[in-house]
Amino acid sequence: MKSIDLAVVGGGVSGLALAWKAACEGRKVVLFESDARVGGCLHSERTASGFWFEMGAHTTYNSYGAFLDLVVGGGLQDALLERGEARSKFGFLRDGNYRWLTPPRVLLQLNWLEAALYAPRAAFRAKGERSVAEHFGAFVGAGNFKRVLSPFLSAVPSQLADSFPAEGAGSLFKTRPRRKEFIRSFGFEGGLQRVCDAVAATPGITIERKAAVRAVGKHAEGFSIELESGRSFVSRLCAMAAPLQVAGRVLRADFPQLADALAAIKAVAVDSVGVVLPREQAWLPACAFLVPVDDSFFSCVTRDAFPDEKFRAFTFHFRPGLTREARLARVCEILRVEQSAFLHLAEKQITLPAPTVGHAGRVAAIDRALAGTSLAVTGNYFDGLAIEDCVLRSFSEWQRISGALIAPA
Ligand SMILES: Cc1cc2nc3c(=O)[nH]c(=O)nc-3n(C[C@H](O)[C@H](O)[C@H](O)COP(=O)(O)OP(=O)(O)OC[C@H]3O[C@@H](n4cnc5c(N)ncnc54)[C@H](O)[C@@H]3O)c2cc1C
Repeated sequence: MKSIDLAVVGGGVSGLALAWKAACEGRKVVLFESDARVGGCLHSERTASGFWFEMGAHTTYNSYGAFLDLVVGGGLQDALLERGEARSKFGFLRDGNYRWLTPPRVLLQLNWLEAALYAPRAAFRAKGERSVAEHFGAFVGAGNFKRVLSPFLSAVPSQLADSFPAEGAGSLFKTRPRRKEFIRSFGFEGGLQRVCDAVAATPGITIERKAAVRAVGKHAEGFSIELESGRSFVSRLCAMAAPLQVAGRVLRADFPQLADALAAIKAVAVDSVGVVLPREQAWLPACAFLVPVDDSFFSCVTRDAFPDEKFRAFTFHFRPGLTREARLARVCEILRVEQSAFLHLAEKQITLPAPTVGHAGRVAAIDRALAGTSLAVTGNYFDGLAIEDCVLRSFSEWQRISGALIAPA
């Protein structure tokens, strides 16, 4: 058994952010990642020709102040890539008809008579303990909400967002200060994955790849970390940064109360399919994304905000439960090509949290179970799914547990 200062389970942006904070303070960190790649949902797929596109997260903003700390820490502050013209264009697919819109024109899709009936009554209602559907439905009418707003809001978290809390923990809407020295909305040449790769290379962080953790338990010296491979480690501190349902499973034996609190948050699976086409074979007008109404996918995100001379890429995020054949057939229908036209095909399944009204109480129960321990738990199921929410949770969890270590000499 090897003994270490801090063990981090999961190498997505949450785990990397916490590892980075600890390493910046001189700690020796070992991060266990089940995949061969770090980044988790920050997954920039790279083709043999050097073209890249995002399979997961695609947009970051200058309101992501803590994430920008990571960017600067990774030495990438000069590598920010401004999102081009296509960033504010998108397609709306309803009943087989495409409309190509800019954000103000979305409002023209509303039935204004219905909106006029509802809005005055809703104007003075606080969001309170209400869901997205209840809150926005009260403003524009249930019909308008279902026909127009629900598909757009669901495209953001790649799942039906109607039951998300309208505000507070778990909500999609946050106002954060902007760091105006950075571009407003940006990516990176090579994709967001680059930030994760750069942070993983920070001195003091050792990454164990293809190292799936099976169990984290209590140990006289802190925590025992058992890998699926049979290897085991002991660490003074431990940070759990694996996806929600994995975290519960790995912690259950020695932390049952915490595992129960984690199990109270729902999760949904998302199947993503990314394809690359020769530019001349892609018929869709340049746009950031396509949002369908009542379809088998929630959104199709393009790489058009970072245009390439030769290629275009489209990543479809599907509802769970479809066969692979059905997903690929729908991709071909939308793109109006045969599968033989794909220059590159990538597929993955992820599980995302699905917060509902009352989420803040569920987070509070997790925090109660953690109080007084040197175990950190971080991820996208606390304040929200956004990258910035993850990084902020990681920074505050590191601050909470780091006091248990004596300062390095
Ligand atoms: C399609 C999509 C689009 C998105 N778009 C945006 C966007 O544009 N902007 C934005 O701000 N946010 C976006 N998000 C949300 C954001 O990307 C995620 O919420 C965030 O990246 C999650 O990071 P994480 O580290 O908490 O979890 P994850 O990224 O899921 O990382 C968890 C890691 O743990 C690893 N792991 C799993 N099991 C084990 C185990 N047993 N042992 C060790 N490691 C394990 C996984 O392999 C993974 O690397 C998007 C998410 C998705 C899915």
